[in-house]
Amino acid sequence: MVRLAGALLVVVLAVPACDSGAKPVAVPSPTQSAEPTHAVIVPPPPTKAPTLRPGPTRSPAPIATTRPPGTVATGDYVFPISGCRASYGRSHHDYPATDVFAARGCAFVAPVAGRVDEVTYTDTWRSTTNRGADRGGLSVSVVGVDGVRYYGSHLSTIAPGIKPGVAVAAGTRLGSVGNTGSARGIATHLHFGLSWPTRPNIWWVRRGEVYPWPYLDSWRSGGNKSPAGAVAAKHAASGDVPRCSAYC
Ligand SMILES: [Zn+2]
Repeated sequence: MVRLAGALLVVVLAVPACDSGAKPVAVPSPTQSAEPTHAVIVPPPPTKAPTLRPGPTRSPAPIATTRPPGTVATGDYVFPISGCRASYGRSHHDYPATDVFAARGCAFVAPVAGRVDEVTYTDTWRSTTNRGADRGGLSVSVVGVDGVRYYGSHLSTIAPGIKPGVAVAAGTRLGSVGNTGSARGIATHLHFGLSWPTRPNIWWVRRGEVYPWPYLDSWRSGGNKSPAGAVAAKHAASGDVPRCSAYC
C-alpha cells in the first residue's frame, strides 16, 4: 500500500468531504494558514494567456478530430495545482473524484491542452437547499485534447479570460482554490473530477465518473498517465447521461 505522508492523510480525514451532505463545520487545517505556503511541488508553467476566440459559447465540436476517443492526441499532462503545496487522498464520498487540499488562492490549472467547456461564475449554494447543481460553487470544466472532461470546483475566483470556448494549454490558469459551494466553512480544496463531455448542465456526470488520484500521482511526479482509456470505458458502460444517484 502506498502511503501518503501521515499529516496529509490526517488533513483529508479530519475534514468533511466536499460535496458531502454533512453540515459544514469549521475545522482548523494546515492548508488554511493565513499565509499560504508556496512549497513548489510542480514547477509553474510558463505564463500563457488563453487564446480568446470568438465563437460558440460552448465547445460542441471535437478538439482533436483525427484520433479515436480514448487516446491522447497531443500534449503533456500537468498537476492541476501549480506552485503550491497540495495533498489528497484516495477516496471520495459517494462517487469517484479527488479532493485536492491546497491554500486559498493557489492556482488551478488546465491538466492538459483543450478548450473550456462550462464555467460557473457565481456561488448559489445554500445549506438549507443543498441542491446538487449548486454544490460545486464556482467551477470550470475543460474538455482536453484527449477527449476527457476535467472539472475543478469550490474555486474562489475564475481566472480572467476563462469562458466557454476558450482554448487553453496545459498549465493555463483556470481559477483559484477556495471553498465555495458545499465546501463553505471547511478547508479550501479543489474538487477534481474526470468525465466524458455531455450536453450542458449535466453536473452529476461532470463532477466525476472515474477516480483521478492515479493520474494525479503520475502527473505530480512528472509522469504522463492518461485517464482517457478509463473514462472511455466508463462512458461506454454508463451511456452519455446515466441517472444521478447521489446528492441529486
Ligand atoms: Zn469533492
